[in-house]
Amino acid sequence: MIEILRPVKEINNLLSEKRRIVITTHNNPDGDAIGSSLAMYHYLKIKGHQVDVVIPNMFPEFLAWIPGSKETLVYERQSALVKKALTEAEVVFCLDYNAINRLGSVADIITRSQGKRVLIDHHIDPDTESFDYCISTVDISSTSELIYNFIDSSGDRDLINKEIAEALYAGIVTDTGSFSFSCNRKETYEVTADLVSRGVDVQKLHQLIYDTFSENRLRLLGYAIHKRMIVWEEFHTALIYLTREDLRGFNFQVGDTEGIVNYPLSMEKINQSILLTEKDKMIRMSFRSKGKFSVNDLVRSHFNGGGHMNAAGGKSFNTIEKTIEEVKKILPLYKNELDYILSYDS
Ligand code: 5GP
Ligand code: MN
Repeated sequence: MIEILRPVKEINNLLSEKRRIVITTHNNPDGDAIGSSLAMYHYLKIKGHQVDVVIPNMFPEFLAWIPGSKETLVYERQSALVKKALTEAEVVFCLDYNAINRLGSVADIITRSQGKRVLIDHHIDPDTESFDYCISTVDISSTSELIYNFIDSSGDRDLINKEIAEALYAGIVTDTGSFSFSCNRKETYEVTADLVSRGVDVQKLHQLIYDTFSENRLRLLGYAIHKRMIVWEEFHTALIYLTREDLRGFNFQVGDTEGIVNYPLSMEKINQSILLTEKDKMIRMSFRSKGKFSVNDLVRSHFNGGGHMNAAGGKSFNTIEKTIEEVKKILPLYKNELDYILSYDS
């Protein structure tokens, strides 16, 4: 943790005067992106700064309850306000992403901003050159936990009110899959316990995050598993693909495919799961693995992306059929690595 504390001091110096601050997070923001950004937003506002949260595109509806979500500036809808905020920013926080290109449409604008860039993130291989200050580790489950540590190391733990606690909890619970992966550090539970003591209602927030499916979303999940799942037993891999027509048929809304990629891993002997979703100009690829197989390595080598060892994302500019063929071609390269059986002793 030593390497984390030094930048906290330096960043605190940067924040010793009231600043114009913009908080940014990655394209297709998830629970950790929005949770960490909004927690930081409330904290910095309490500290007296002028703060905006900028997101490239809209977050899924199941995150809309997080306090402050309505105040975010969405580049796709409010490009002029985003440009103005980033032009005026003295400090730009970069949360839950490791390279500027993860900002999608906002990438160009942030590069032109004069503000000091502060990275706080937990993805592998951060592009440190692009940032003035870096708090980066892959050992911590979520950026939200890093934000908790940042506030704590700044001597401000007691400023963590219910709003901040709820936003941080949303990030921690979603990035650990409800404490089912990346959650073997006791500190994650100590932080969570502290958040509960500050007003988080675990049962209520679980329902707000996970029990908000539309009928269409639940039926899409059933369809994806029943009709669109390929299982390659030999390679311990399953792949689900969803075409634009499939999505249209279920009146797709942002966030509706969230979590689908996790289901194939619930099969015994399946160590890797892949979800292909057809977008307007590309195929979005989502990878998950269990055990020691690194989807981060596979995606980095073959599909223009990255992420973590057990969860990564990438893209393909081929058709969905060709992308499936590509995956099929690549799997034999990983046959040995994929060939393990998880057991109590492994
Ligand atoms: P998801 O499959 O949920 O979209 O992403 C899984 C993980 O991989 C997330 O931590 C996400 O930040 C990361 N990720 C997703 N897409 C990309 C990408 O295009 N590039 C990189 N470097 N990471 C990605
Ligand atoms: Mn994260």
